[in-house]
Amino acid sequence: MKISGRTRILGIFGHPIGHTLSPAMHNAAIEALGLDMVYIPFSVRPSRLKDAVEAIRGLDILGINITIPHKEVVIDLLDKLSEEARAIGAVNTIINSNGMLIGLNTDGQGYLRSLKGDAGFNPKGRDIVLVGAGGAARGILTALAGEGPASIIIANRTTSKAESLVDEFKVKFPDIDLRACALDTSELKDPLKTAALLINTTSLGMEGKGRLELPLEEMPGGAVVSDIVYKPLKTDFLKKAQDLGLVVHDGLGMLVQQGAISFKIWTGLDAPVDIMRNVVERALEEE
Ligand code: NAD
Repeated sequence: MKISGRTRILGIFGHPIGHTLSPAMHNAAIEALGLDMVYIPFSVRPSRLKDAVEAIRGLDILGINITIPHKEVVIDLLDKLSEEARAIGAVNTIINSNGMLIGLNTDGQGYLRSLKGDAGFNPKGRDIVLVGAGGAARGILTALAGEGPASIIIANRTTSKAESLVDEFKVKFPDIDLRACALDTSELKDPLKTAALLINTTSLGMEGKGRLELPLEEMPGGAVVSDIVYKPLKTDFLKKAQDLGLVVHDGLGMLVQQGAISFKIWTGLDAPVDIMRNVVERALEEE
């Protein structure tokens, strides 16, 4: 890697940050396109987030990704928000435009690109079941709702959280049949019989986080089962779906595509998606 007097800095703020795959993914893209840039991980404690955001201006850093636990709190420290980041209530990408810090969110669009490209699924007019009501769920819901599905059922451990998401999104998307339910096999049995897409947006399935158990055998043939967890790539949930002959969509594509959209925001260039995917896939295999 060559660092010159003109090298522009990109990076990621998070805490902890040691396991992030973003530096490997973005530096591979930078190298492939021969750009004079470098992408650096920054371990930013919550009490230092304000200083770190101020340093984006002070050090003339071009762009920053934001990850756990800063995605929501960073909003108040920025000058401007994209419409999507405002709707989601979280930022995963900042661009420094001559000292003006603009916050965006590429998670939902990254998921949608991967769903369409990797699983060949078009949400328009379809019935969808989404599990979870956290930050990733809000991003994915925003992106999916914009595509005009027929219905979305949000199932969450805390039903009231799913209900408030439904109330909020009903105002913005009155044509979609939006409903909330508990994360419970008996409640989900019927909705799964007609669902074309089931998505896990919770951390269930991650190493050490417990399993997501749902009656996948109720789903119609050809339905897509999607899991945004990427450690491991093949969760038990996806393995069960695969054994049942359902179409399986893992979290790798979302990870790569959200990064590709951020890369385009910062550089104006189409990201070398295949190179980024290979790097991330290899890093996950080595872990
Ligand atoms: P979050 O903390 O905002 O939300 C977590 C969600 O999981 C909540 O809905 C919570 O109710 C649910 N949950 C947690 N433990 C549960 C349990 N034991 N039983 C039932 N529900 C439970 O987190 P987030 O940022 O939305 O991330 C969620 C997952 O998505 C993480 O595993 C994260 O790694 C993954 N993710 C993947 C990508 C990608 O690019 N593939 C992007 C963002 C997030």
